[in-house]
Amino acid sequence: MTMTFEYTPAPESRAIVTIKPKYGHFISGKFVTGAKHFPTINPATEEVLSQIALGGKADVDAAVKAARKAYTNTWSKISGKERGKYLYRIARIMQERAREFAVLETLDNGKPIRESRDTDIPLAAAHFFYHAGWADKLEYAGLGTSPKPLGVAGQIIPWNFPLLMLAWKVAPALAAGNTVVLKPAESTPLTALLFAEVCQQAELPVGVVNIVTGDGSTGALIVNHPGIDKIAFTGSTEVGKIIARAVAPTNKSVTLELGGKAANIVFDDAPIDETVEGIVNGIFFNQGHVCCAGSRLLLQENIAEEVLHKLKNRMEKIRVGDPMDKNTDVGAINSKEQLAKIIELAAVGDSEGAERWSPACNLPSKGFWFAPTIFTGVTQAHRIAREEIFGPVLSVLTFRTPAEAIEKANNTPFGLSAGIWSEKGSRTLWASQQLRAGVIWANTFNKFDPTSPFGGYKESGWGREGGRHGLSAYLKGVSNE
Ligand code: ADP
Repeated sequence: MTMTFEYTPAPESRAIVTIKPKYGHFISGKFVTGAKHFPTINPATEEVLSQIALGGKADVDAAVKAARKAYTNTWSKISGKERGKYLYRIARIMQERAREFAVLETLDNGKPIRESRDTDIPLAAAHFFYHAGWADKLEYAGLGTSPKPLGVAGQIIPWNFPLLMLAWKVAPALAAGNTVVLKPAESTPLTALLFAEVCQQAELPVGVVNIVTGDGSTGALIVNHPGIDKIAFTGSTEVGKIIARAVAPTNKSVTLELGGKAANIVFDDAPIDETVEGIVNGIFFNQGHVCCAGSRLLLQENIAEEVLHKLKNRMEKIRVGDPMDKNTDVGAINSKEQLAKIIELAAVGDSEGAERWSPACNLPSKGFWFAPTIFTGVTQAHRIAREEIFGPVLSVLTFRTPAEAIEKANNTPFGLSAGIWSEKGSRTLWASQQLRAGVIWANTFNKFDPTSPFGGYKESGWGREGGRHGLSAYLKGVSNE
């Protein structure tokens, strides 16, 4: 007999956050008024949360100038130990204000509060703690005897993990002695602006962190600014290519963290129930707005039917809805534009002849929603097997032999991540050596840690973030494979 539980609503209170009606940029330790503004909304309700400044040339100039001054006069002068103290302080304040950050992230992004509370915010704090530890130990990192910072870093981040991507960028830059000008994504600027308050609270020397809000045009101003020494970008492959072209004739260093179309490979000796959990986590975590999402499921043919049956049963139990409800598994799609892209690619899947399936779900009438979806009967030629959908949509392919699995898994312009499900250690090790992907998970998926380098092959990007490898991207003369 199976038992079904009824859930009563368990909403998180939003009373802990104060959202100002309008925000300016954070330059030289102060909030400065912007000239033009645009709204940021809650994608689950379409409520306007605040008006955000659209950074122009004068704002980017002022931010770069502030960052240069702080670099020259303060940040590159003080000891690594002193820098470390500030990073520890920031990390601790982030932990103290974790609930505030989590609620704000969920309101602005649409992700379930359970994820922002248990994943995004703790990991963001962990990145600051980890890099705080490196600040006074750079000469022991195996990156040369006297590693030197690059100078001013321009950092452009996406909307899928707003605070976490900020932490990935800001923490190593500061630990290595650089100062930064960061631009959050246009649809999710609020936690970066709260982070600016944390920098004030930590009494971080002015100008070390500058935050300019805006859209792609603001990002382009940062990329092309002559006063910047390094560009760190996370976002689409399309924009990554524009940035690579823009910096090619300059002396700027660059790291690019771009798209993916990860293969999640299930061999016939895999533990099926655990695997089903891993498949769900791989593609429906964060609404599938994850560059390393396990968006291509490769099932060994003799177990495909059983896995799909169990996967569909499991998907029937996914709770889609109010992101502020602590029982919610899948929240809102981040924007109207992203929803349109997902709908368009799913329609391509239909027209190419793949078979679509979604569990019955009651989607809210307001906001941007897409039910968890799987496509079966997908072939390698299908666009839904090749292009990143960046939504809760899984393409299922099958294979007969391990060699075929590897060939299909590697048949992609991307190479960010992959998953292997098997109880056989030798098979897992063999497969992981064949896969051209930066991160490979075995019998798990979407696990992140600040000590572990993350990054891709081919069109998934250049360079690594996290661990010693990530640190090297913010130091002079150190190879950054
Ligand atoms: P997505 O398509 O998922 O929104 P984007 O790559 O467009 O991803 O956006 C990621 C980040 O890059 C955002 O902060 C965005 O404002 C910024 N951006 C967009 N276009 C450009 C550009 N031409 N130059 C620099 N930054 C850009």
